[in-house]
Amino acid sequence: MHADHRQLGRELGLFRTDPLVGAGLPLWLPDGAVVRSELEKLAADEAVRDGCQRVYTPVLAKRELYERSGHWAKFADDMFPPMKVGGDELVLRPANCPHHALIYAAEQRSFRDLPVRLTEAASMFRSELSGVLGGLSRVRQINLDDTHVFCLPEQVTDEIVRGLAAAQRYHRMLGIEVARYQLARRGDHGSYLGDDRLWQDAERQLGEALDRAGLAYEDAPGEAAFYGPKIDVQVTDAAGREDTLSTVQVDFNQPERLGLGYVGADGRRHRPVMIHRGVLSSMDRLMAYLIERHDGAFPPWLAPLQVLVLPVTGQQHGPAGSLTDRLRAAGLRADCDRADATLGARIRRARERRVPYVAVIGHREESSGLVALRLRDGRQLPGISAADHPAPAGRPAPADHPAPAGRPAPAGRPAPAGRPAPAGHPAPADHPAPAGQPGPAASTAA
Ligand SMILES: [Zn+2]
Repeated sequence: MHADHRQLGRELGLFRTDPLVGAGLPLWLPDGAVVRSELEKLAADEAVRDGCQRVYTPVLAKRELYERSGHWAKFADDMFPPMKVGGDELVLRPANCPHHALIYAAEQRSFRDLPVRLTEAASMFRSELSGVLGGLSRVRQINLDDTHVFCLPEQVTDEIVRGLAAAQRYHRMLGIEVARYQLARRGDHGSYLGDDRLWQDAERQLGEALDRAGLAYEDAPGEAAFYGPKIDVQVTDAAGREDTLSTVQVDFNQPERLGLGYVGADGRRHRPVMIHRGVLSSMDRLMAYLIERHDGAFPPWLAPLQVLVLPVTGQQHGPAGSLTDRLRAAGLRADCDRADATLGARIRRARERRVPYVAVIGHREESSGLVALRLRDGRQLPGISAADHPAPAGRPAPADHPAPAGRPAPAGRPAPAGRPAPAGHPAPADHPAPAGQPGPAASTAA
């Protein structure tokens, strides 16, 4: 682990806070937004591959919804006060679950339809006091990769195992080092919903799922959510503080309180179980972790700027500009630095910005048509044809998914080049595919 994410976030222009907006409400700057949008795309793609359906729901709802769900009684201290609008009282949501539950409830469900998995990049709100807020790790608007699974009681363990597997895929792809898994149980004190038997059942199923997944874990009494126990995946930040990055939770209570049901094989109405899955994490907390984990040098597929083209002198501005255009047309995030500074100064600046690849075009490159690529660590790759583009930084493929079908190439442009590495071979963060390998001609096989 390296520097504090707040300092690096400022230096690299990823996010900032403004007193006029308020504490715990960071503004994501363009470079930070690139990283977040790549993570959100990853979450959406992975969820769909994992059998989830995407939904969109509002960040506000009537107070009655949270009274029904139990949040109002057990969680009101963490919620923003209601806003009176006409005869209604609207509340910024403290959680996304009640909204997803209503989407589930909007249709008649049969046991054959279950599990139903609904997923959303959803924002929820916490009325934290400004003293405890900091950077991206403690915020008032949490932007969560949130999935709710509605399943039969006998599907619960499988679905927890599935949630844990999804979390582990992300950890591999993003280089996340798990500090420990913990089973957060009910404590002696604290306010919880629901009866003892259901809690014991849920805690047992979480333990079984951890055993089946072969994961060692610690018990954490008193750390459960008010509606049910959970598995928390813990990581540590640069200062050694522990945080929960991913979580899988079992909930018998909200289905009961919100009146969810399905028609069983016996033709009668039964209660589904709800599983809360926040496996990629909140964008805020994940970003804070990744900034520190990689010291700001994101893997190339996540880097805000992937290739910086540097003309040695003004004479190369033309060819440098057209190489930049070709790189962009190939789907890479590229820019050309024509600043009036020495080449050495511009290379240093690119290194400070943690740009993964730098392409230098001087007189020699201009006449030979070959461009040398430099990596962040100073290594240099053999020259590639200026007419080609480097293989971009594909997202590492999770080992147990087939390679996805590539996005169709827009007419008249080269296909955005090869996304994920072949299954089982996640591309190491800092090694681009051998330069000049899949050029525009080869890259249609994304
Ligand atoms: Zn939830």
